[in-house]
Amino acid sequence: MGVPEPQTVVIAGGGQAGAQAAISLRQAGYEGNLKIFSDENYLPYQRPPLSKAYLKGDFEQERLFLKPPNWYLENYIELELQSKITKIDRGERSVLCQNGSVVTYDALILATGSRPRPLSVSGSDLKNIFDLRQIEDADLIRSNATPGKQLLIVGGGYIGLEAAATAKKLGLEVTIVEMEERVLQRVTAPVISDFFTKVHEKHGVKILTNTRLDHFEGKNGVVSTAIFADGTEIPCDLVLVGIGIIPNTELASESGLSCDNGILVDKDARTDDPRVFAIGDVANRLLIHYGRRGRLESVHNAIEQGKLAAAAILGTPRPTEDCPWFWSDQFNIKLQIVGLSQGYDEYVIRGEEEKNKFAVFYLKNGRLISTDAINAPAEFLVSKKLIISGVNVVSSELEDITIPMKDILGRYTH
Ligand code: FAD
Repeated sequence: MGVPEPQTVVIAGGGQAGAQAAISLRQAGYEGNLKIFSDENYLPYQRPPLSKAYLKGDFEQERLFLKPPNWYLENYIELELQSKITKIDRGERSVLCQNGSVVTYDALILATGSRPRPLSVSGSDLKNIFDLRQIEDADLIRSNATPGKQLLIVGGGYIGLEAAATAKKLGLEVTIVEMEERVLQRVTAPVISDFFTKVHEKHGVKILTNTRLDHFEGKNGVVSTAIFADGTEIPCDLVLVGIGIIPNTELASESGLSCDNGILVDKDARTDDPRVFAIGDVANRLLIHYGRRGRLESVHNAIEQGKLAAAAILGTPRPTEDCPWFWSDQFNIKLQIVGLSQGYDEYVIRGEEEKNKFAVFYLKNGRLISTDAINAPAEFLVSKKLIISGVNVVSSELEDITIPMKDILGRYTH
């Protein structure tokens, strides 16, 4: 059931998820008031190019914006930029903005996203130590990224690896330090970590694993050296910190909504208050294909949940949930990930790593649960269908390159 006669929908956060909720509400014919509050100074924009083409300077800023300025006017959407929501009064059904104004709602969508996890080592406040989350961060990094400079990247996750690939193209000397045994350890199997390590090393990126940063030292307030727990010192002109994100749950938790690694929502993106919804990076959602909860950090998730919340508010039919997916571009490699590989008990590889075209299929109890596809779109697309169908598959067939992916799909779906 939808929210009874919604006259005003307020969206806190104007990122990928918040913008999608507004788009979906208007597309479904919602004619009431629609207000987006964003604490940033830009129209809602996509973040993936910030570590890729935009960081490199190949992508104009206007192309980041999800909709042009006119679209908000034409669709009667009040978009308040540089306007942070600081409090929710659920009893009064209102939000308080930083400028002191109070806005009432019939339905509230929390799309507050996440922020970079800060480093806690001493010297982290020196100049030229950056995060990468917002347009300003990418602009700052690029303006400092002159060829030959030494860039140290702390954290071997997707953002660190993508930024390393971009920085190499810009002519920087790049070192990635990762405290775990391998890059991408939290998100993928050793075979993929090894593959990306080789790709990066071939392009001249230095990767140091099992390496714990101790502190930074600087000259005239600007970072100059990173000192590691084993005493090693690495000179650096700039540092990018990419050690994960923290969901922006404070607004929700301070108003008494249940949070646990994100704002807890049901399958319709609804919190434990029937008039409050949470979507995108900040939401801890039900993962229907996996029978558990989780918080996802991807464009696909933000879009899907924006659509789910809009449908739930209006009481229109629920969009069908897709299987989670994500992509990453590094050098000439397109990685497409479908599904969630946590808990796999078997994996098989199809294709040839040496040709930069292969896929890793992750199975659990005979079912395909996730695939990492490297320059392998057919493997990605078929995997998505197999995961959703939930059928048991024969792993030896998946790795047999003489059987085309479409035939494998045909064997399991009708
Ligand atoms: P956000 O996009 O973070 O938007 C939330 C917005 O809310 C922000 O503008 C925030 O400032 C604002 N806000 C927070 N609190 C308040 C408040 N109280 N009041 C008002 N406004 C508030 N995903 C992929 O699938 N593929 C990729 O290749 C990929 N690459 C990425 C590269 C980078 C550099 C980054 C940073 C992310 C990447 N992602 C990628 C992840 C993807 O961009 C995020 O998952 C997605 O942006 C999440 O959307 P969101 O709307 O939940 O959060």
